[in-house]
Amino acid sequence: MKELTCIVCPNGCELTIDEKTLEVKGNKCPRGADFAVNELKAPSRTISSTVKTSFKDVPVLPVRVSKEIPKEKIFEVMKEINRVTVDKRIKSGDVVIANVLGLNVDVIATSDILLNEEHYGKH
Ligand code: SF4
Repeated sequence: MKELTCIVCPNGCELTIDEKTLEVKGNKCPRGADFAVNELKAPSRTISSTVKTSFKDVPVLPVRVSKEIPKEKIFEVMKEINRVTVDKRIKSGDVVIANVLGLNVDVIATSDILLNEEHYGKH
């Protein structure tokens, strides 16, 4: 029996899952059961972070991964994110790292802060 906390919604239900039968208890909705089974078989997470830019007015740009990645790859993906410097005025949704580590996941910008007119001309 494994205990875990559901992170799918703010309720944070305390779940137990039987490793053999995959029976889940403690979930207030079916999404919790799916979460527990997935955690047991292939835990995955999303990442939100920031990357450096070469612009003095906006030194960091918020980014996230385009979909969840295997939990054990988080550290390596963060290393890739920390390695990047954005040198173009890209917009929200633009790809910062395509197919990071060959995971079929992109790291994408989540802010238009580099396009903010207030910042133009100060570079
Ligand atoms: S089991 Fe359902 S209600 Fe409970 S935290 Fe997970 S998603 Fe929310």
